[in-house]
Amino acid sequence: MRKKLAAGNWKMNGSLAALDEIKALASVTDGSVEVLICPPAPLVHAACAAAPETVAIGGQDCHAKDSGAHTGDTAAAMLADVGASHVILGHSERREDHDEHDEDVRAKCNAAWDAGLTAIVCVGESLSQREAQNTLDIIGGQLAGSVPDGATGHNLVIAYEPIWAIGTGKVPTTDQIGEVHDFIRARLERRFGAGVGRSTRILYGGSVKPSNANEIFAVSNVDGALVGGASLKASDFGAIISAL
Ligand code: 13P
Repeated sequence: MRKKLAAGNWKMNGSLAALDEIKALASVTDGSVEVLICPPAPLVHAACAAAPETVAIGGQDCHAKDSGAHTGDTAAAMLADVGASHVILGHSERREDHDEHDEDVRAKCNAAWDAGLTAIVCVGESLSQREAQNTLDIIGGQLAGSVPDGATGHNLVIAYEPIWAIGTGKVPTTDQIGEVHDFIRARLERRFGAGVGRSTRILYGGSVKPSNANEIFAVSNVDGALVGGASLKASDFGAIISAL
C-alpha cells in the first residue's frame, strides 16, 4: 500500500560535477520504489534538470515565510519553483546547528505544504535520552510539536533518525528500530485517523549502508531510508535502492 522511498540527504556535500551521481541512478530506478535526492540549495535547480524521470529532487530546509528580509534563507515556494517536490525539515543537524525547535519545524512544514511540497519531518533521540529510557517520550513530543494538523498521507513523511546513529556507523538493533517505527505509526493513526496514519511513510535514517539495508528494510513499518553518506555515490545508493 505504501510505496517504498529511498531518500538521499547530501547535507553540505556535492558540486555540479557530482550531479553525475544522480544521472547514474537511472540504471537502478524503474519507478517501483520512489527515489529522492536532496542536494544543498545551490544545486537544487541543476539537480532537477539533471535527474532522470525516476529520481525526485528535494531541499534540506526551507524558511517558514514566503519571502522577505531573511538573508541566506530559502522559501519553500522557491524550491518548488525550480522543480523540487520534497523538503527535509527538522533534521537533528538543523535543530543543533541552527537552534531549531519543534515549533519552528511545524511552521516550516506548513510553509512546505502551502508550496505543494512533501515534508520529510525528522525526529530522533540523543544517546543520553535513549540511555535514560526516554526515547518514546522524546519521539512522541517531537511528533506532536513538529507536525502540524493537515497531514494527508501524501504530503508528509516521517524520518526516524537516532542522533547517535548518524554518521557513526552505529545502528540500533532491528527490535529498537521496530519499536520506534510501530510507535510512530500508532501516533500517526491516533492523531490523523487510520487512513492517513497508514498511508504516511516512515523512514529510518542513521548509518544505512548497502551492507545493513536488507536487515533494516525487513523491519515492520520501515518504509524506506533517509541516507546521508551512502547517498553520495550512485554505486552505494543504488545498492540501497535495490534492497528496498
Ligand atoms: P548517515 O547515513 O551518514 O549516517 O546520515 C544519516 C542522516 O542524517 C540522513 O539525514
